[in-house]
Amino acid sequence: MSEPILSADGLHITYGHVEAVRNVSLEVHPGTLVTLVGANGAGKTSVLNALSGLQRPRRGTIKFKGNDITRWPAHRLVKAGLVQVPEGREILGTLTVAENLTLGGWHRGNSLRRNVDRMYERFPVLEERKKLQAGALSGGEQQMLAIARALVAEPEVLLLDEPSMGLAPKIVNEVFTVIEQIRHTGTTVVLVEQNAKRALAAADYGYVMETGEVSYSGAGQELLANESIIEAYLGIS
Ligand code: ATP
Repeated sequence: MSEPILSADGLHITYGHVEAVRNVSLEVHPGTLVTLVGANGAGKTSVLNALSGLQRPRRGTIKFKGNDITRWPAHRLVKAGLVQVPEGREILGTLTVAENLTLGGWHRGNSLRRNVDRMYERFPVLEERKKLQAGALSGGEQQMLAIARALVAEPEVLLLDEPSMGLAPKIVNEVFTVIEQIRHTGTTVVLVEQNAKRALAAADYGYVMETGEVSYSGAGQELLANESIIEAYLGIS
Protein backbone atom coordinates (compact mmCIF):
# COMPACT_ATOMS: atom_id res chain seq x y z
CA MET A 1 0.00 0.00 0.00
CA SER A 2 1.12 3.59 -0.67
CA GLU A 3 2.58 5.77 2.07
CA PRO A 4 -0.05 8.07 3.62
CA ILE A 5 0.00 11.56 2.12
CA LEU A 6 -1.30 12.87 5.45
CA SER A 7 -1.19 11.31 8.89
CA ALA A 8 -1.67 12.17 12.52
CA ASP A 9 -0.17 10.28 15.40
CA GLY A 10 -1.33 10.57 19.02
CA LEU A 11 -3.07 13.95 18.73
CA HIS A 12 -4.23 15.65 21.90
CA ILE A 13 -6.09 18.96 21.62
CA THR A 14 -7.14 21.07 24.59
CA TYR A 15 -9.02 24.34 25.04
CA GLY A 16 -8.05 25.65 28.47
CA HIS A 17 -8.98 22.76 30.75
CA VAL A 18 -11.24 21.09 28.19
CA GLU A 19 -9.60 18.04 26.66
CA ALA A 20 -11.41 17.99 23.29
CA VAL A 21 -9.31 15.34 21.50
CA ARG A 22 -7.41 12.45 23.06
CA ASN A 23 -4.84 10.28 21.35
CA VAL A 24 -6.26 10.43 17.84
CA SER A 25 -4.23 8.81 15.09
CA LEU A 26 -5.26 8.58 11.47
CA GLU A 27 -3.89 7.94 8.00
CA VAL A 28 -4.99 9.36 4.68
CA HIS A 29 -3.69 7.67 1.52
CA PRO A 30 -3.25 9.59 -1.73
CA GLY A 31 -6.32 9.80 -3.94
CA THR A 32 -8.72 8.53 -1.29
CA LEU A 33 -11.70 10.09 0.43
CA VAL A 34 -11.49 9.74 4.21
CA THR A 35 -14.29 10.84 6.49
CA LEU A 36 -14.48 11.71 10.17
CA VAL A 37 -17.97 11.22 11.55
CA GLY A 38 -19.49 11.37 15.02
CA ALA A 39 -21.93 13.28 17.17
CA ASN A 40 -21.84 17.01 17.87
CA GLY A 41 -18.84 17.96 19.97
CA ALA A 42 -17.00 14.67 19.33
CA GLY A 43 -13.88 16.56 18.26
CA LYS A 44 -14.05 16.29 14.46
CA THR A 45 -13.54 19.99 13.70
CA SER A 46 -10.71 20.17 16.23
CA VAL A 47 -8.87 17.36 14.43
CA LEU A 48 -9.46 18.94 11.02
CA ASN A 49 -8.23 22.31 12.26
CA ALA A 50 -5.10 20.67 13.64
CA LEU A 51 -4.44 19.02 10.26
CA SER A 52 -4.78 22.37 8.46
CA GLY A 53 -2.65 24.34 10.92
CA LEU A 54 -5.53 26.34 12.39
CA GLN A 55 -5.29 24.62 15.78
CA ARG A 56 -2.03 23.71 17.47
CA PRO A 57 -2.27 20.26 19.10
CA ARG A 58 -1.01 19.96 22.65
CA ARG A 59 0.69 16.68 21.84
CA GLY A 60 1.12 14.47 18.82
CA THR A 61 2.60 14.66 15.34
CA ILE A 62 1.14 15.49 11.95
CA LYS A 63 2.91 14.55 8.72
CA PHE A 64 2.18 15.71 5.17
CA LYS A 65 4.10 14.33 2.20
CA GLY A 66 6.78 13.02 4.55
CA ASN A 67 7.33 16.32 6.39
CA ASP A 68 6.54 16.91 10.04
CA ILE A 69 4.07 19.80 9.69
CA THR A 70 2.82 19.84 13.28
CA ARG A 71 4.01 23.41 13.81
CA TRP A 72 3.52 24.78 10.31
CA PRO A 73 1.11 27.74 10.06
CA ALA A 74 -1.96 27.41 7.83
CA HIS A 75 -0.66 29.71 5.05
CA ARG A 76 2.47 27.60 4.66
CA LEU A 77 0.34 24.46 4.43
CA VAL A 78 -1.86 26.04 1.75
CA LYS A 79 1.26 26.69 -0.36
CA ALA A 80 2.35 23.09 0.23
CA GLY A 81 -1.02 21.77 -1.02
CA LEU A 82 -3.14 21.24 2.11
CA VAL A 83 -6.25 23.44 1.93
CA GLN A 84 -9.34 23.58 4.15
CA VAL A 85 -12.89 24.65 3.40
CA PRO A 86 -13.90 25.84 6.87
CA GLU A 87 -17.10 25.14 8.77
CA GLY A 88 -19.65 27.85 7.95
CA ARG A 89 -17.88 28.48 4.59
CA GLU A 90 -16.33 31.84 5.60
CA ILE A 91 -17.17 33.49 2.33
CA LEU A 92 -16.39 37.22 2.31
CA GLY A 93 -19.93 38.45 1.77
CA THR A 94 -19.16 42.04 0.79
CA LEU A 95 -16.65 40.99 -1.88
CA THR A 96 -17.79 39.71 -5.27
CA VAL A 97 -17.77 36.05 -6.24
CA ALA A 98 -14.79 36.77 -8.54
CA GLU A 99 -12.87 38.47 -5.72
CA ASN A 100 -13.51 35.56 -3.36
CA LEU A 101 -12.17 33.13 -5.96
CA THR A 102 -9.09 35.25 -6.61
CA LEU A 103 -8.29 35.30 -2.89
CA GLY A 104 -8.17 31.49 -2.88
CA GLY A 105 -5.18 31.54 -5.22
CA TRP A 106 -3.15 34.42 -3.74
CA HIS A 107 0.01 32.36 -4.00
CA ARG A 108 -0.57 30.90 -7.48
CA GLY A 109 0.93 33.75 -9.54
CA ASN A 110 0.56 33.20 -13.28
CA SER A 111 -1.78 30.21 -12.95
CA LEU A 112 -4.35 32.13 -10.86
CA ARG A 113 -6.35 33.42 -13.86
CA ARG A 114 -6.44 29.96 -15.45
CA ASN A 115 -7.47 28.31 -12.17
CA VAL A 116 -10.33 30.79 -11.67
CA ASP A 117 -11.52 30.22 -15.27
CA ARG A 118 -11.52 26.47 -14.64
CA MET A 119 -13.82 27.03 -11.68
CA TYR A 120 -16.23 29.00 -13.89
CA GLU A 121 -16.30 26.04 -16.29
CA ARG A 122 -16.90 23.65 -13.47
CA PHE A 123 -19.47 25.79 -11.63
CA PRO A 124 -21.33 27.78 -14.31
CA VAL A 125 -23.55 29.37 -11.65
CA LEU A 126 -20.45 31.09 -10.24
CA GLU A 127 -19.63 32.56 -13.63
CA GLU A 128 -23.20 33.84 -13.97
CA ARG A 129 -22.91 35.45 -10.56
CA LYS A 130 -19.26 36.51 -10.66
CA LYS A 131 -19.94 40.22 -10.29
CA LEU A 132 -22.45 39.80 -7.45
CA GLN A 133 -21.56 40.20 -3.80
CA ALA A 134 -20.97 36.71 -2.44
CA GLY A 135 -23.34 37.44 0.46
CA ALA A 136 -26.22 37.57 -2.03
CA LEU A 137 -25.75 33.92 -3.06
CA SER A 138 -27.93 31.12 -1.70
CA GLY A 139 -26.47 28.78 0.93
CA GLY A 140 -25.78 26.09 -1.67
CA GLU A 141 -24.10 28.56 -4.02
CA GLN A 142 -21.97 29.86 -1.15
CA GLN A 143 -20.86 26.31 -0.38
CA MET A 144 -19.92 25.79 -4.05
CA LEU A 145 -18.02 29.10 -3.92
CA ALA A 146 -16.17 28.01 -0.76
CA ILE A 147 -15.18 24.73 -2.43
CA ALA A 148 -14.21 26.48 -5.69
CA ARG A 149 -12.13 29.03 -3.76
CA ALA A 150 -10.20 26.18 -2.14
CA LEU A 151 -9.71 24.43 -5.50
CA VAL A 152 -8.21 27.60 -7.00
CA ALA A 153 -5.30 26.94 -4.62
CA GLU A 154 -4.68 23.58 -6.40
CA PRO A 155 -4.78 21.42 -3.26
CA GLU A 156 -3.32 17.95 -3.15
CA VAL A 157 -5.41 17.34 -0.04
CA LEU A 158 -8.73 19.14 0.42
CA LEU A 159 -10.17 19.27 3.95
CA LEU A 160 -13.93 19.88 4.10
CA ASP A 161 -15.71 20.75 7.34
CA GLU A 162 -19.46 20.05 7.35
CA PRO A 163 -20.10 21.05 3.74
CA SER A 164 -23.74 19.91 3.89
CA MET A 165 -24.57 21.93 6.99
CA GLY A 166 -27.81 23.90 6.74
CA LEU A 167 -28.51 22.93 3.13
CA ALA A 168 -31.73 21.52 1.64
CA PRO A 169 -31.60 17.80 0.71
CA LYS A 170 -31.43 18.50 -3.03
CA ILE A 171 -28.47 20.83 -2.53
CA VAL A 172 -26.80 18.31 -0.20
CA ASN A 173 -26.93 15.85 -3.12
CA GLU A 174 -25.24 18.40 -5.37
CA VAL A 175 -22.51 19.06 -2.80
CA PHE A 176 -21.81 15.32 -2.42
CA THR A 177 -21.68 14.93 -6.21
CA VAL A 178 -19.07 17.70 -6.36
CA ILE A 179 -17.05 16.08 -3.55
CA GLU A 180 -17.05 12.73 -5.35
CA GLN A 181 -15.98 14.42 -8.59
CA ILE A 182 -13.09 16.11 -6.79
CA ARG A 183 -11.93 12.76 -5.45
CA HIS A 184 -12.21 11.20 -8.91
CA THR A 185 -9.93 13.85 -10.37
CA GLY A 186 -7.23 12.53 -8.01
CA THR A 187 -7.43 15.09 -5.22
CA THR A 188 -7.31 13.50 -1.78
CA VAL A 189 -10.29 14.50 0.38
CA VAL A 190 -10.78 14.55 4.15
CA LEU A 191 -14.42 15.13 4.98
CA VAL A 192 -15.93 15.97 8.37
CA GLU A 193 -19.68 15.40 8.33
CA GLN A 194 -22.73 15.20 10.55
CA ASN A 195 -24.45 13.44 7.67
CA ALA A 196 -22.67 10.21 8.59
CA LYS A 197 -24.48 7.78 6.35
CA ARG A 198 -23.93 9.91 3.28
CA ALA A 199 -20.29 10.54 4.15
CA LEU A 200 -19.51 6.87 4.85
CA ALA A 201 -21.21 5.85 1.61
CA ALA A 202 -18.87 8.15 -0.32
CA ALA A 203 -15.73 7.36 1.69
CA ASP A 204 -12.96 4.86 1.09
CA TYR A 205 -12.17 4.91 4.79
CA GLY A 206 -13.87 6.32 7.86
CA TYR A 207 -13.09 7.22 11.45
CA VAL A 208 -15.90 7.32 13.99
CA MET A 209 -15.22 9.80 16.79
CA GLU A 210 -16.87 9.78 20.18
CA THR A 211 -16.12 12.27 22.97
CA GLY A 212 -12.67 13.12 21.69
CA GLU A 213 -11.49 9.66 20.70
CA VAL A 214 -11.64 7.37 17.68
CA SER A 215 -13.98 4.55 18.63
CA TYR A 216 -14.04 2.73 15.29
CA SER A 217 -12.30 2.93 11.96
CA GLY A 218 -12.63 0.94 8.77
CA ALA A 219 -13.66 0.99 5.14
CA GLY A 220 -16.60 3.35 4.61
CA GLN A 221 -18.89 0.56 3.38
CA GLU A 222 -17.90 -1.68 6.30
CA LEU A 223 -18.79 0.96 8.89
CA LEU A 224 -21.99 1.73 7.05
CA ALA A 225 -23.01 -1.93 7.11
CA ASN A 226 -22.45 -2.17 10.87
CA GLU A 227 -25.84 -1.30 12.35
CA SER A 228 -24.54 -1.20 15.91
CA ILE A 229 -22.00 1.47 15.00
CA ILE A 230 -24.58 3.50 13.16
CA GLU A 231 -27.05 3.32 16.05
CA ALA A 232 -24.69 3.59 19.01
CA TYR A 233 -22.23 6.14 17.76
CA LEU A 234 -23.94 8.14 15.13
CA GLY A 235 -27.39 8.52 16.65
CA ILE A 236 -29.22 7.47 13.51
CA SER A 237 -30.73 4.23 12.34
P1 ATP B 1 -19.51 19.97 15.80
O1 ATP B 1 -20.07 19.03 14.82
O2 ATP B 1 -20.51 20.47 16.78
O3 ATP B 1 -18.63 21.03 15.23
P2 ATP B 1 -17.14 18.47 16.47
O4 ATP B 1 -17.19 16.99 16.51
O5 ATP B 1 -16.55 19.08 15.27
O6 ATP B 1 -18.58 19.05 16.73
P3 ATP B 1 -15.38 20.14 17.99
O7 ATP B 1 -15.99 21.36 17.40
O8 ATP B 1 -14.03 19.75 17.58
O9 ATP B 1 -16.35 18.90 17.76
O10 ATP B 1 -15.45 20.27 19.57
C1 ATP B 1 -14.94 19.27 20.46
C2 ATP B 1 -15.10 19.76 21.89
O11 ATP B 1 -14.26 20.89 22.09
C3 ATP B 1 -16.50 20.21 22.26
O12 ATP B 1 -16.73 19.82 23.58
C4 ATP B 1 -16.44 21.69 22.13
O13 ATP B 1 -17.36 22.31 23.01
C5 ATP B 1 -15.01 22.00 22.55
N1 ATP B 1 -14.49 23.18 21.87
C6 ATP B 1 -14.34 23.34 20.55
N2 ATP B 1 -13.79 24.56 20.27
C7 ATP B 1 -13.60 25.16 21.45
C8 ATP B 1 -13.06 26.42 21.85
N3 ATP B 1 -12.60 27.30 20.94
N4 ATP B 1 -13.01 26.70 23.16
C9 ATP B 1 -13.45 25.81 24.08
N5 ATP B 1 -13.97 24.62 23.80
C10 ATP B 1 -14.05 24.29 22.49
